Amino acid sequence: DSQLNTGYNFHNFIEGETNRLARSAGKAVAKRPGGTSFNPLFIYGGVGLGKTHLAHAIGLEAKENHPDKTVLYVSTEKFTQQFIEAVRNNNRNDFIHFYQMIDILIMDDVQFLSGKKATQDVFFHIFNHLHQRGNQIILTSDKPPVDIQDMEQRLISRFKWGLSADLQAPDYDTRLSILNYKIEKDGIEMPEDVLDYIAKSIKTNVRELEGSLNSIIAQATLNKKEITLELTQKTLSNFINNTRKEISIDYIQRTVCDYFKIPIDEIQSKTRKRDVVQARQLAMYFAKKFTKASLSSIGSQIGNRDHATVLHACKTVKNLSETDKVFRGYVEELSRKISVE
Ligand code: ADP
Ligand code: MG
Repeated sequence: DSQLNTGYNFHNFIEGETNRLARSAGKAVAKRPGGTSFNPLFIYGGVGLGKTHLAHAIGLEAKENHPDKTVLYVSTEKFTQQFIEAVRNNNRNDFIHFYQMIDILIMDDVQFLSGKKATQDVFFHIFNHLHQRGNQIILTSDKPPVDIQDMEQRLISRFKWGLSADLQAPDYDTRLSILNYKIEKDGIEMPEDVLDYIAKSIKTNVRELEGSLNSIIAQATLNKKEITLELTQKTLSNFINNTRKEISIDYIQRTVCDYFKIPIDEIQSKTRKRDVVQARQLAMYFAKKFTKASLSSIGSQIGNRDHATVLHACKTVKNLSETDKVFRGYVEELSRKISVE
């Protein structure tokens, strides 16, 4: 049994600007598992953005294209449980053999390997075996490989061997497409201004988008009312206030790197390249501005610097934005991006 959920397929995984790369890489892998350079395919992104859905979709399509191949979906938690159990029962080798036989292995939420040394070791051996034989590995994580804490370097470097593709928070058009798809599937009619309002209000992730849609439908059904803009606004006012997004340092770094088109591992590195230094300083400044983290905590999360460096970065950004108009533009635009999204 491949443990795949047929409800999560490509047909109902709506394509948009924010998932295009990950989606098409997934399609390619399903077509030629082990036969592309996307091995492993590493899909990352925040909660509710579709990692699990996409992982199942790839598995299902791969199975359909290659009925002779064995596919297995496993959550990292389950993998860890099975391993602990195997060790306890003296079945470690059986466990390893079982995984080494799989043609297409999908492991969901590998960030949960963090801090689990023995499980990382066994996964390392399984990974090498599968990869050497040209079997396909698909991994998901809530962050890119470099940002996973307490993970052996040799594993992180293998995670980067193939293709890393991120799922970003859906943009307006993608949100609207998803809403349209869902109501059509359920045979529900909704005025356009209502759909527009939901798509404009719920920006965080697809799970919340679905949740808010369901609340509106429930409200209308319970009160035997039409779905109007007024009902929608009332229902969502609770929703929005309760689910206000917390701004994380991780998110700030990603936004800054995205903006300047700098890979996030550069910011984390020791490099003193001018544009990277500037991005790093901006990330520190926004972390100070938008989070409650201490200077030393900010420093340790952004490039492993000390609190004095963070303090210096904050001052530099302030000074520069007073004297340099272009720089001030960056700060203002980034500030808006970070707080509004
Ligand atoms: P994650 O694993 O990243 O936390 P999930 O895969 O569980 O997210 O997705 C959360 C919900 O959003 C699921 O119900 C999933 O079907 C839905 N979803 C996510 N992305 C899309 C998409 N592009 N099209 C349609 N539904 C989606
Ligand atoms: Mg998931």
